[in-house]
Amino acid sequence: MTIRILPAEVASAIAAGEVVERPVSVVKELMENSLDAGARRIEIEVLGGGSQLIEVADDGEGIAADELPLAVARFATSKLETAKDLFRLSSLGFRGEALSSIGAISRLEITSRRREAAHATRLSVEGGHSGALKPIGAPTGTVVRVRDLFFNVPARREFLKSESTERQRISDLVTRYAVAYPQVAFRLTQEGRQTFQSSGSGDRREALAAVFGLELGRSMLDLPQDARSEIQVEGFISPPAVHRSNRRGLTFFVNGRWVQDASLSAAVVQAYHSLLMVGRYPLALVLIEMPAEAVDVNVHPSKTEVRFKTQNQVFSAVQRLVRATLLGQTAPSINFQPSWGGGAYPATTLLDVERAGSSSPLPGFTPMPTQPGLGGRALPLLRAVGQIGSTYLVAEGPDGLYLVDQHAAHERVLYERLLAAADGDQRQSQVLLQPEMLTFSAAQSSFIEERLEGLRGLGFDIEPFGGNAFRVRALPGVLSGLSAALALQAVIDEIEEDEKPLAAEMERLLAARICKRAAVKGGQVLSMAEQQQLLQDLEGCQAPRTCPHGRPTMIHLSVDALEKQFGRQG
Ligand code: ADP
Ligand code: MG
Repeated sequence: MTIRILPAEVASAIAAGEVVERPVSVVKELMENSLDAGARRIEIEVLGGGSQLIEVADDGEGIAADELPLAVARFATSKLETAKDLFRLSSLGFRGEALSSIGAISRLEITSRRREAAHATRLSVEGGHSGALKPIGAPTGTVVRVRDLFFNVPARREFLKSESTERQRISDLVTRYAVAYPQVAFRLTQEGRQTFQSSGSGDRREALAAVFGLELGRSMLDLPQDARSEIQVEGFISPPAVHRSNRRGLTFFVNGRWVQDASLSAAVVQAYHSLLMVGRYPLALVLIEMPAEAVDVNVHPSKTEVRFKTQNQVFSAVQRLVRATLLGQTAPSINFQPSWGGGAYPATTLLDVERAGSSSPLPGFTPMPTQPGLGGRALPLLRAVGQIGSTYLVAEGPDGLYLVDQHAAHERVLYERLLAAADGDQRQSQVLLQPEMLTFSAAQSSFIEERLEGLRGLGFDIEPFGGNAFRVRALPGVLSGLSAALALQAVIDEIEEDEKPLAAEMERLLAARICKRAAVKGGQVLSMAEQQQLLQDLEGCQAPRTCPHGRPTMIHLSVDALEKQFGRQG
């Protein structure tokens, strides 16, 4: 093949792929355009997780009718003139390729009116081909409607994650921007239901509740502003009592732009050093302002990466402020007293259950009638002898010695009961004496709502209560020792890690993960009676020798092996 310049259509399809990776990228580009246009109100509507419709309406300055065709042309922008401007950007956009990219891979309709215009004008673009301008009645501002995203890029359509994943990403995006732009009123409607709204009152904390949930939002610590520094940092961080199993709760804005940056994440995580257990991560929303010339935003078409001229300075500015804020926290103000019995979204994690739960009965640690003939007798009858290091049970069986990992064993027991409950008709639910009302963040709410069926299958009796509130009436029997808030949080935390569990796998996955959380931990002292009960329950399991994650629950030393070791044989 000879070298040829690609036809414009091919070139723009390639470029579009970089700008618009998935529905949330469209929302981001359109929202940024609205912010650049000085909007005070931005309304976002999404159908089909964004594949069907994304509409962003704003009350910004609008686009002049004769400039509309330019707005949807590639490399056409009102925000930049020379390459030098790249380093004095005050706008979020500058590449002039968002609208053209979106128009290349969807059915785009843009309606806009400037204040001085007599009417609005509408332009439609379908798969890159523009139609004619049409006058139409509409208020000042801009409405961009994107239908059938990727309709002409089937490959991309196939790569899309589930609608719920896309919805959650969109919700994450909008709520975080609402914190970053508290003076703008945002409204998000997904599948016909309003899932988020901010008032534009200028109060960042208002939107914080939507990002992290009510209770948690309240418990977030303020980073004090330091006006003296060239690099200004503000925002919110979680108290050390609150943590997650991944870094996804860390969000950074640089000069008003949401960016992904490993070094900023590292700066925050490092600041929690020794305050969090290994493998646990804080939550934070950090807003950094610095001179435009100190940061390069022209790294990638999606504009979510930046390069800092003085990387080390930025790193230490963030790390120092976070650390100082944490150390300034005196111990009593760290909230270890979550609303256990009821109330809102927990400002706590399951690790607190371990602490608080050691004196209370273990969840699911109740005698279960052994079912002879069911699955055969996979284990001989075991007699508890004692506990080693509060972690392993020593047991005697007819054929020697068994060392049992108490956590793995309990996990197995809980797992089989949970699945049995889900399979059987008799959902082993534990009805709560008093239903609990829980409020979650917008993202988590839609997350839960989409999984109501699966949750019910596991024994949760939960119903949406309007807004982001839910009423929980019952928990899976095996989780009866946990508060509803903690049980649900475990579920959410764990599913969030794995974005797209297959529907069929979902229940098993969930069950395994819940059990891991709920099972008795290593390091916990068990009474003789509890040890014996655990061993007996394990005996009743169909696959007692491994935990649900495949690790062994026990090590067996046969009488034979013992005799060999002691030189009594041979
Ligand atoms: P960029 O934002 O990089 O300039 P876009 O393709 O996103 O590129 O938009 C092209 C141009 O269209 C912008 O420079 C701006 O002038 C105009 N525009 C787009 N969206 C809006 C909006 N919501 N309100 C006003 N003007 C807009
Ligand atoms: Mg733009």
